[in-house]
Amino acid sequence: MKPLLTQEQMMIREMAHEFARTEIEPFAQEYNLKGEFPEAIIGKLGRLGLFGMMVPERYGGSEAGAVSYSLALQEIAYSCASVAVTLSVTNLTAEPLLNFATEAQKEKFLRPLASGEHIGAFALTELEAGSDPSALKTSAVKRGGRYIVNGAKQFITNGAYAGVIILIARTSPEKNGLTAFIVPKGARGLKVGKDEKKMGLNASNTVEILFEDCELPEDLVLGKEGMGLKIALSALDSGRIGIASQAVGMIRACLHEALEYSKERKQFGKAIIKHQSIRNMLADIAVDYEAAGLLVLNAASLKDDRKSLSMEASMAKLFATEALNRCAYKALQVFGGYGYTKDYKIERIYRDARVTTIYEGTSEIQRMVIARELEKM
Ligand SMILES: Cc1cc2nc3c(=O)[nH]c(=O)nc-3n(C[C@H](O)[C@H](O)[C@H](O)COP(=O)(O)OP(=O)(O)OC[C@H]3O[C@@H](n4cnc5c(N)ncnc54)[C@H](O)[C@@H]3O)c2cc1C
Repeated sequence: MKPLLTQEQMMIREMAHEFARTEIEPFAQEYNLKGEFPEAIIGKLGRLGLFGMMVPERYGGSEAGAVSYSLALQEIAYSCASVAVTLSVTNLTAEPLLNFATEAQKEKFLRPLASGEHIGAFALTELEAGSDPSALKTSAVKRGGRYIVNGAKQFITNGAYAGVIILIARTSPEKNGLTAFIVPKGARGLKVGKDEKKMGLNASNTVEILFEDCELPEDLVLGKEGMGLKIALSALDSGRIGIASQAVGMIRACLHEALEYSKERKQFGKAIIKHQSIRNMLADIAVDYEAAGLLVLNAASLKDDRKSLSMEASMAKLFATEALNRCAYKALQVFGGYGYTKDYKIERIYRDARVTTIYEGTSEIQRMVIARELEKM
């Protein structure tokens, strides 16, 4: 079954495909080898309208919708997973601004983000609060008309480059006493800490963010005090569509790389694609690609229809990212020893794949979300 895409969705996919193959693919390996953030490429993506794909035009977005966003992200991830995660986190940052910001906040912070002026970051994780956000300690203490923020956030994607950061901080001691804040670039007391040296995604920016008596006026509270956990969890529901889409694009790249190589490489007097074991691996990757693609499309369609999507987004994220890891394993196996060298793109995909079952909720947490939703039925 191939679900129908609208003309507009197919055009957006085509546009992202063209951009990825001409403007990203030829440079991706070099950026990743150098560990360099591809600012020029990211700037172009913003100007193409890919930063605010689910944001209405009246706030500077392209209003393309979640299905188009997913298709575009798949094309970008096919060429470079690092660029894809930069884009995904920027769209994730736009979500809470769209859903919870006041009109004045939207004008000031959502519009520049959605119209491509700058990227965004989402700061939830801390040293002792990963899967369990209720353990977070970064504090925001109200003094007069301001909040004084102290603490440290770990693993913040885009942290050093973001024009705006959505921060989740503790405003009261109860377990869920969390509040979301909008932190503009350059806020006094906001510092960029350690740059993580990662196994993969080496052209993405992942840093520690430090708050040292950082003063935030109360008009930077997003939603209301105490709504931090709700805001974070709803942003992550959408975020999971992004990571699942990233995984689908990467599975497609696994298939392409393995297929092309298996037609060229000869052993025992014939192309290795003629050996049944290789054919089995290619077939398995192709099936995972189709299945993961349909799950993501389902979750994205629910979002476009404004329906509840927690379970479906978690299903898509769980399946697509675990499928990607087995596909990357098989695709590298098709390359034999050459796949283990940096001469081939599959080596980068294999490393980049690993984190997808970890960030924006580990596979274990996705299973928890799915089971929780099942229990309600
Ligand atoms: C490259 C990268 C980019 C990231 N970007 C961001 C970002 O932009 N913003 C941000 O806020 N965070 C970001 N993160 C953090 C990421 O979301 C966390 O790493 C992730 O949520 C897991 O938290 P943790 O690493 O503390 O692992 P832990 O929560 O300590 O988990 C360790 C293990 O225990 C398991 N576990 C934990 N609790 C349970 C449970 N109840 N039941 C079963 N198993 C459980 C986990 O599944 C995992 O296997 C990023 C991480 C990386 C690596």
